[in-house]
Amino acid sequence: SNQTYNFKDYIRVIPDFPQPGIRFKDITTLLKDGAAYRAVIAEMRDAVKHLKIDIVAGPEARGFVVGAPLALELGVGFVPIRKSGKLPGETITASYDLEYGKDVLAMHKDAIQPGQRVLIGDDLLATGGTIASSINLVKQLGGEVVGAAFLIELLYLNGREKLGDIDVFSIMTYE
Ligand code: IMP
Repeated sequence: SNQTYNFKDYIRVIPDFPQPGIRFKDITTLLKDGAAYRAVIAEMRDAVKHLKIDIVAGPEARGFVVGAPLALELGVGFVPIRKSGKLPGETITASYDLEYGKDVLAMHKDAIQPGQRVLIGDDLLATGGTIASSINLVKQLGGEVVGAAFLIELLYLNGREKLGDIDVFSIMTYE
């Protein structure tokens, strides 16, 4: 359809979740509207289609909700990035620092072929730790990360600066 959307109208901002002082951007209110969900994925596709993407990778769990439909729209495959211990085949891992402690992400060794042009998709760019670690994994497999696409970017956390020289796209930004 040719309806134009202000997608922010579909995001629910929840104060003090999961901790006091955090204004949580809840995307479930966007996803439950079929037409708005379809339209936001189409807008992401249009923003990245010039990158000649071979495959999309997305970190669990909300990266699946964005990355998989985006891959379908682009006509390419999707590969999951998961918390370590979840994938059944041979994996490689990368760890990243959280506010308290560390987290380890994993990909299947055969998820990406060397030289493939990879787009990473996720719901939200905050500090960039998750995506920096995802980029590390794709590079370990010999893939070329050509871009990262998000529904939402929190500009005040400067996550972009952690992502190096790739194209970063976000549909909505918050200051
Ligand atoms: P980062 O590694 O700091 O960039 O955090 C990214 C991840 O944190 C995203 O994949 C989100 O799922 C989650 N996250 C952080 N803040 C929010 C929020 O306000 N709304 C929804 N998810 C969030």
